[in-house]
Amino acid sequence: METRENISLKGLNTFQVDAAAEAYIRFDAEDEILDFLADGHLDARRYLVLGGGSNLLFLGDFHGVVLHPAMKGISVVGCEPDHIRVKAMAGEAWDDLVAFAVGRGWGGIENLSLIPGCVGASVIQNIGAYGVEVRTAVERVEAISLADGRRAAFTPAECDFGYRCSRFKDERHGRFMITAVVFRLCRRPTCVIRYPGVQEAVAHIGAPTVGNLRRAIIQIRESKLPDPVVIPNAGSFFKNPVVTGAALDRVRSVAPDVPSYPLGGGRFKLPAGWLIEQCGWKGRTHGHAAVHRDHALVLVNNGNATGQEIYDLSERIRQSVSSWFGLTLEREVVVVRS
Ligand SMILES: Cc1cc2nc3c(=O)[nH]c(=O)nc-3n(C[C@H](O)[C@H](O)[C@H](O)COP(=O)(O)OP(=O)(O)OC[C@H]3O[C@@H](n4cnc5c(N)ncnc54)[C@H](O)[C@@H]3O)c2cc1C
Repeated sequence: METRENISLKGLNTFQVDAAAEAYIRFDAEDEILDFLADGHLDARRYLVLGGGSNLLFLGDFHGVVLHPAMKGISVVGCEPDHIRVKAMAGEAWDDLVAFAVGRGWGGIENLSLIPGCVGASVIQNIGAYGVEVRTAVERVEAISLADGRRAAFTPAECDFGYRCSRFKDERHGRFMITAVVFRLCRRPTCVIRYPGVQEAVAHIGAPTVGNLRRAIIQIRESKLPDPVVIPNAGSFFKNPVVTGAALDRVRSVAPDVPSYPLGGGRFKLPAGWLIEQCGWKGRTHGHAAVHRDHALVLVNNGNATGQEIYDLSERIRQSVSSWFGLTLEREVVVVRS
């Protein structure tokens, strides 16, 4: 366990916003968290649980204590003819877990290769990419209640996973610290290769194995997405709006060529990046914040942007999309207020 007072969070969030926190505590073992809570150190204090800081925007200094679960460890906890259960501690880098699984030929999370952040946060917003969401591989989420220090475990149904959300992101936000996740992976995997760009990249590499799929996805992500170390960002800033057929018709009346993806049940997903681009935001700046020149869905810190500048830019984008298309964009990034 490590405690620091009055620290800069700049190196702890991928937007590299230079916010300060009153205190930062890194936990290297679950017992340290339980002792910390039992001793009443959190009583009446504001706190934030921080993983890799890749889905957060600090609006300003954080007047509270930042809790960082850094517990490490990946272990096999069950084995069946077709499946294997793997438990990963919250502080493991997400992509290290994917590499661990793929290296053994186990399938289920290879499409989520190279997503930044930690295992603990993967379930918070039910990370997803290239046709797969983490919920399909989650068997159990282990946590500690920050209110009373009790251990808890949740089934996938109890997590109430949805598109870039879960109960931990919504109604239980901040109430639990996720300590570990147990995944159920396939020992005889069938690869999910639905996206045309992915199909071509895998075919170019070789047979459709989990290893080749991971290689293809890493190649695509590295060639397309801005590296936060070079251009600070938090990936997609907004969620893709999910709308009814009637709402889609209204959007079509102003933009007949809007792309739409049927989800069933009369609902359609619209690409937020396309909507933002139509409003003319691609590449535009606001102070030191900007919309990435190639990805309208990615907001970037061009240098010394404050969290407030990035937030204000996101607010202006939301207003444009609302007045052009009558749609309200929801932020995917978690906004942390002072
Ligand atoms: C370049 C780039 C590409 C990305 N691509 C994708 C993508 O393809 N798909 C996708 O879904 N996301 C993507 N993201 C977003 C991000 O990587 C994921 O949401 C990731 O899971 C966040 O993990 P983190 O550890 O950085 O969480 P943080 O940003 O530290 O935290 C996010 C939220 O989770 C909470 N939290 C974190 N850890 C815990 C814990 N152990 N217990 C309780 N609460 C916790 C925090 O309080 C906060 O509310 C991308 C981000 C970047 C920068």
